[in-house]
Amino acid sequence: MADTVLVLNSGSSSLKYQLMQPDTGISLASGLVERIGEETSTVTLKWGNEETSRDGRIADHEAALRTTFDLFAESGRHLDDLGLVAVGHRVVHGGQALYRPTIVDDAVVTTLKELAALAPLHNPPAVLGIEVARRVLPDLPHIAVFDTAFFHDLPSAAATYAMDRELAQRWDIRRYGFHGTSHQYVSQQAAQFLDAPIESLNQIVLHLGNGASASAIAGGRPVDTSMGFTPMEGLVMGTRSGDIDPGVLIYLWRTAGMSVEEIETMLNRHSGMYGLGGEIDFRVVHERIESGDEAAQLAYEVYIHRLRKYVGAYLAVLGHTDVVTFTAGVGENDARVRRDALTGLAPLGIELDEHLNDSPARGARRISADKSPTTVLVIPTNEELAIAQACLTVV
Ligand code: ADP
Repeated sequence: MADTVLVLNSGSSSLKYQLMQPDTGISLASGLVERIGEETSTVTLKWGNEETSRDGRIADHEAALRTTFDLFAESGRHLDDLGLVAVGHRVVHGGQALYRPTIVDDAVVTTLKELAALAPLHNPPAVLGIEVARRVLPDLPHIAVFDTAFFHDLPSAAATYAMDRELAQRWDIRRYGFHGTSHQYVSQQAAQFLDAPIESLNQIVLHLGNGASASAIAGGRPVDTSMGFTPMEGLVMGTRSGDIDPGVLIYLWRTAGMSVEEIETMLNRHSGMYGLGGEIDFRVVHERIESGDEAAQLAYEVYIHRLRKYVGAYLAVLGHTDVVTFTAGVGENDARVRRDALTGLAPLGIELDEHLNDSPARGARRISADKSPTTVLVIPTNEELAIAQACLTVV
């Protein structure tokens, strides 16, 4: 059997996994354990067209991983026969020091724990996932693949906050950027789709999922990205605010009497589309707008306004762009968002083909008009494949 990599993405109460063949790009199996630690958890396994699921209490992440392998075994696939050569772990933040795909040892785990403050919502569950997986699969190399990696060498002008320089240096405060595996993968796929060397292309990639980020890429190297020190900066997201005047936070703390924790929760979980309109799923947002829901309408307008601002900013940063690519849940599926983000930009060289944009096609596709100087693409992201391939570079 060809080499496979098990890619894990561990959340606070969930564990997503995918069994990838990095060489062929084939995903053999994928699944999810949800509501870990709650009354009823659900484990699902998809193998080709077969789908199995099981409900029951799963106390912790270790039990989640073991139950997953039980489910593998019950469907006749034993761990030893899967061709596993590594386990890849998606880690959001590696700070200044960790960014290349890194074989995890005890020292790396310790460093990752120390970095928890940089990404308090994302890093601790990732570390938990790593610790559990190292116990359950002790004979395999475990590789941490960082969301920040692609943006590690951002030009200083884009990576630096205009704040007290010494303070920033002392506390490693810079713009790190996130969703790096996706931006890198999608920009490579865009070059392949256009049959052009990536070195020759200026690109804007719009990763619009629950988390959302934009990047400007010149010749394969990122020159700016919308997320910064944490994954909170930039575009409006499902539940995160994106850009917000830091004065608002000081005001909420000093005058409204909110604690730091309350402010953090508000920014991460009660903001964005959810905070404005009570809903993160764009399918429902559109339904609500059609039924006259003004809050949903405003949320959508704020979302689109911010997105257009970033497209304009990155056009200016790049001078011109050859290609704009939409990816992730909203970017791949929501024709209205794509249309509203780019309508009226013909004077800037961007023109959609309405028919191509509205087509329910899946897979990589062009949606710009033939005469549009800038090509607009939709390319499904595949972070798991990118992580699996990154793992192979170190094992
Ligand atoms: P995550 O950041 O959690 O990985 P995804 O990239 O999976 O998110 O995107 C999830 C979001 O994609 C959903 O919340 C929803 O808003 C949007 N989405 C998914 N399918 C569709 C669709 N068919 N039409 C519009 N939006 C969609």
